[in-house]
Amino acid sequence: MIQQRYFIAGSDILVIDDSPTNLSLLTQMLSEQGYNVRVAPNGKLALKSALTNPPDLILLDIMMPSMDGYEICEQLKADEVTRDIPVIFLSGLNEALDKVQAFAVGGVDYVTKPFEPLEILARIENQLRLRSLQLQLKEQNAQLQLLLTTTQAISKAANVDSALKVILSKICQTIGWNFGEAWLPNAQLKALVCSRGWYASDSSLLPFRQHSQGLTFPPNVGLPGRVWLSKKPAWIEDISQTNEQSFSRGEIAAIVGIKSALGVPIIVGDRVSAVLVFLHKNTIATDESLIELVNAVATQLGTLIQRKKAETAIKKANQELERLAALDGLTAVANRRQFDKILQQEWYRLKREQLPLSLIMCDVDYFKGYNDRYGHLEGDNCLRQVASAIASASRRPADLVARYGGEEFAVILPNTNAEGALKVAESIRKQVQQLKIPHALSQVSQYVSLSLGVSTIVPTADSSPLELIEIADLALYSAKQQGRNCAVSRSYAIATS
Ligand code: GH3
Ligand code: MG
Ligand code: MG
Repeated sequence: MIQQRYFIAGSDILVIDDSPTNLSLLTQMLSEQGYNVRVAPNGKLALKSALTNPPDLILLDIMMPSMDGYEICEQLKADEVTRDIPVIFLSGLNEALDKVQAFAVGGVDYVTKPFEPLEILARIENQLRLRSLQLQLKEQNAQLQLLLTTTQAISKAANVDSALKVILSKICQTIGWNFGEAWLPNAQLKALVCSRGWYASDSSLLPFRQHSQGLTFPPNVGLPGRVWLSKKPAWIEDISQTNEQSFSRGEIAAIVGIKSALGVPIIVGDRVSAVLVFLHKNTIATDESLIELVNAVATQLGTLIQRKKAETAIKKANQELERLAALDGLTAVANRRQFDKILQQEWYRLKREQLPLSLIMCDVDYFKGYNDRYGHLEGDNCLRQVASAIASASRRPADLVARYGGEEFAVILPNTNAEGALKVAESIRKQVQQLKIPHALSQVSQYVSLSLGVSTIVPTADSSPLELIEIADLALYSAKQQGRNCAVSRSYAIATS
């Protein structure tokens, strides 16, 4: 893009000379080479012309009435708009001092009259090339800066939405636009949906965001839809001059005072993975180098976002695996491994806090008989129901129900004393009874029932989780001895005496 704009042929050259002969000679010569030539016969007109429409290069005569070339050059260099335009002096003066003065006021070259057409053309071309390289460097520098900051921010972002939020705010702040949003393709809806990440320079644009949140854009509809389908950036200089098809949010844009829009696709492989839309409160003329800058950043970001997506997916999969690894496959309550881990954790926590820890061991009564009578599959089914009945009876968030093994379940009750634990055990027993699962071979009830053993301890340095389990087991044994379908609590002191 930069090469196109500053390509040598087609560049704008302003020739400032008080001699009409010189002006027409230079105009003809430069036009033949494909330059766009403008002329000014004096300093006043020259400065006006340069300010209103800055040329790519200026040829400047030194000897002129009222304002000489040096003074014109000084004024050009004093204004930010014209400061960087290369100025080549043209003069009949051929003294070393004149040349020194020409460079001192900011000229980049000096050609003496009468000039050789080939020489002047070579010098012009040389300066235009230098200027083009300078602009390219400036552009690349801005790109690199933007890329660097966005890359760093993305690698720190937790997910795609927050990465997009960072990208949008960095780009908006760098290019000085007021609003940034991202639209993400949704496979089911076959449309673009609004990303959670967005940026606004001030709160006056919030209504625009609120309006946009619930919208979707099918392919080719509105600015996002058009960029999505064409896979190319699109610029709207004045939204109020467009129709519904090119910018469907014109009404709300007018209300909040948005004038210009720029849409840029983020392409990964050959697919658009997001459409970035930037909005400005002023009417901004299409700027190819700005499109180039944002597009370059968007292209690089495509890969980064893709990587971030993969990372997020892996993280999620890992979390799910971890969750599954902690669960019992048949009953979906915690498994033995998780039970051991949590018991250990709670033990140390409550030892520090000197609070009671209770454990309930539950065993299905006459379960061998249940399998014998109803078959193993029904047995499995019964264990599932028993597990969820136990889970529904232990309600505190810190309580943990686990399958201890076979038809035995364990419930860890942190911060629960013996009395409370026995209550929970009794409520578990009732819940299971209320399932009313027929059990013809049970000698204690017509339905499936549980025997429960409860133990409670305030953990100390010379006791261990194993002892808590052993005491609960002893209590469970007592419950079986006492006729089953009941809960028995055993204190630590009794168990060890
Ligand atoms: P008690 O009242 O004394 O506890 O008698 P019980 O028959 O329940 O005790 P026992 O330990 O003799 O039998 C336990 C039975 O639980 C043996 C086994 O067939 C059954 N069992 C253990 N795990 C599973 C399982 O995953 N699925 C099924 N269907 N049955 C299981
Ligand atoms: Mg058993
Ligand atoms: Mg049993």
